[in-house]
Amino acid sequence: MILGLLKEYGTENRVALLPDIVQNLTGLKAEVLVEQSAGKGAFAPDKDYEAAGALVVARDEIFQRAEVLLQIHKPAAEDTERLKSPQVWISAFNPLWETDLVKKFRNNGITSFSLDSIPRTTRAQAMDILSSMATVAGYKAVLEAALRLPTFFPMFMTAAGTIRPANVLVLGAGVAGLQAVATARKLGAQVYVFDVRSAVKEEVQSLGGKFVEVEGATEDKTAGGYAVEQTEEYKHKQQEAINNQAVKSDVIICTAQIPGQRAPVLVTTDTVKKMKKGAVIIDLAASTGGNCELTKNGEVVNFENKTVIGQSDYPSLTPLDASRMFGKNVFNFLKLIIDENGDLNLNFEDEIVRGTCITHNGELYNERVKTIIENK
Ligand code: NAD
Repeated sequence: MILGLLKEYGTENRVALLPDIVQNLTGLKAEVLVEQSAGKGAFAPDKDYEAAGALVVARDEIFQRAEVLLQIHKPAAEDTERLKSPQVWISAFNPLWETDLVKKFRNNGITSFSLDSIPRTTRAQAMDILSSMATVAGYKAVLEAALRLPTFFPMFMTAAGTIRPANVLVLGAGVAGLQAVATARKLGAQVYVFDVRSAVKEEVQSLGGKFVEVEGATEDKTAGGYAVEQTEEYKHKQQEAINNQAVKSDVIICTAQIPGQRAPVLVTTDTVKKMKKGAVIIDLAASTGGNCELTKNGEVVNFENKTVIGQSDYPSLTPLDASRMFGKNVFNFLKLIIDENGDLNLNFEDEIVRGTCITHNGELYNERVKTIIENK
């Protein structure tokens, strides 16, 4: 198999594979083409890829020769047009949102795998890029909040008096939220957590966080561990509870998301108005609309002496370890589709291969994506 590793576009610093993973791939008899400067933002120069056995080439050559093309983000519009059947596209392209792109892949006979659709099973954990990147985001969000806050995180008892610890509120206790709890606790803050899934209560408590309960949440055991849309009555109760906790908080880390939908609005403008001066809100759900009403994706909003940061891009700001984790996940996935001769071998009997595949042979494969597209 010839695998082509593309350079990311825009402000992305990560790369989908670092040189040591490329070396593992060449060990599996795959031929690897790497676009010039692909690893620059992640401190991986071209010569390291060459030393790992890859051929560093111009972008055009990758589109001409590679059987499998790999990058982190969805393809740019012009790249989508350049792909030709039977090429295989692998990236995290958010197929529940990017339905036009999915239709293009299907209509053009492109086989596409979206790494954010890897089933969340125990066997797939080592391939789960969502978990890896959420870990980076949860950690970095807390660090940014600590740097921006005009007060300390830990309690200090000094000759100049006692400093009270910061109160941190974490909304959503998925992977990013739990990492945020752990990081904020390590920095000495008091941490409070909301989630609609009661199953996370023990995890929150084991990390030293306090779980704030709101009764009456809708939970769906068939949703694969994800949250589902809540009733109006619950939303109202939750709003009140969040407001009460938020006004006592120095920091809010927002991570609540519902796959395929706009992120729930949990922090209203009115609540922000009542928060302490200098408070910081970091909204990791910014790219899907944000949990705070004031959030603007990719922007820092100053509102009545509070700072609201809409940031979904922390992995790119931690490019080396984020690329390391992403690449290791990708490698574990690629091992499922490369046979012992180094050839591409798509076994759709494998639930991970099938669940991650979005389009193949002009058809939609992933069941959730299929349902969304067919009901639109
Ligand atoms: P996510 O990014 O989809 O959402 C983050 C959190 O926000 C979730 O905990 C969700 O319940 C919460 N949320 C959604 N709406 C909310 C609302 N209105 N109010 C408060 N909270 C709200 O979640 P994620 O980090 O991707 O994890 C989702 C699930 O998948 C978790 O159960 C996690 O343990 C599980 N998981 C399993 C595996 C695996 O087995 N391979 C890997 C990673 C995650």
